[in-house]
Amino acid sequence: MSGEASNMQRYTFGPVPSRRLGRSLGVDLVPFKTCSYDCLYCQLGRTTNKTTERRAWVPTDAVLAELDRLLPAIANACDYVTLSGSGEPTLHSDAGRIIAHVKQHTDIPVAVLTNGSLLDRPELRDELAGADLVVPSLDAGGAAMFRAVNRPAEEVAFETMLDGLVQFADDFDGRLWLEVFLLAGYNALPDEVRAIADAAGRIAPARVQLNTVCRPPAEEYARGVTREALDELAGLFEPAAEVAAEFHGPSAEGAFAPGREDILNMLRRRPCSLADIAAATGKHRNEVIKYIEQLQADGEVASSRSGNVTYYAATQ
Ligand code: SF4
Repeated sequence: MSGEASNMQRYTFGPVPSRRLGRSLGVDLVPFKTCSYDCLYCQLGRTTNKTTERRAWVPTDAVLAELDRLLPAIANACDYVTLSGSGEPTLHSDAGRIIAHVKQHTDIPVAVLTNGSLLDRPELRDELAGADLVVPSLDAGGAAMFRAVNRPAEEVAFETMLDGLVQFADDFDGRLWLEVFLLAGYNALPDEVRAIADAAGRIAPARVQLNTVCRPPAEEYARGVTREALDELAGLFEPAAEVAAEFHGPSAEGAFAPGREDILNMLRRRPCSLADIAAATGKHRNEVIKYIEQLQADGEVASSRSGNVTYYAATQ
């Protein structure tokens, strides 16, 4: 296993390079865009299945079998096994069992990227206790901005969500990093950032990382802020937040990397490998994989192999 995405991987992707996590094997526990939020900035597009129901959205045994096959091969080529992917991973009712399984079978640390919306549930807090690193999101300091930016499922109340996060942070023995995603004209207004900083103070994570729109968001009007603005806003946190956004290309003016239609147009002109698409769009391959998966599921893209490389082409 060279670290390339394999076409034998159904519930995992990578290992892929990750800015924060080094080389990360992604574990994808929900169908595409199954999430309790519908964030304006979501790089995967709008949520198609907004839910707070925890269940085995993908078959647990198949996930574990895939991990058993992959983990020995990536032991020296991977910094984290990360629950992340196509939606909110904690919606999977066996998230805790999957974390425990990875911990039993490898020394690779386990990370969980979560929107934190379900952490008011004691059983989920217990399940995530087995992870080494948990990275929840917090994009608002109050209910109105929470609804505007994250567009949560009706039953997710801001205060309950925040109390759950605080409770989890109090109990958790691993590392906790808080991610804050800032949008121009929304939660990046200084008073809004101060409110987020107050809430972050209750959570007291090891790090607060500020991010902003660098890739195609769910809504075209979701705009990022400049690097300079993020640097300034970072100082409103105590201690100061880190700026984690990837600024590649002319991000400040909103010239986002192409999305689904652009990839499809590219594939109408000539067959491309994942690496070709990633190079042309500036996207991480795991993100490209998500678009390709959806295009394939919709019958708009088909794959073929030449040597060791898989090529994708539009079907019409
Ligand atoms: S950014 Fe994360 S939490 Fe928000 S809609 Fe997308 S997958 Fe869900």
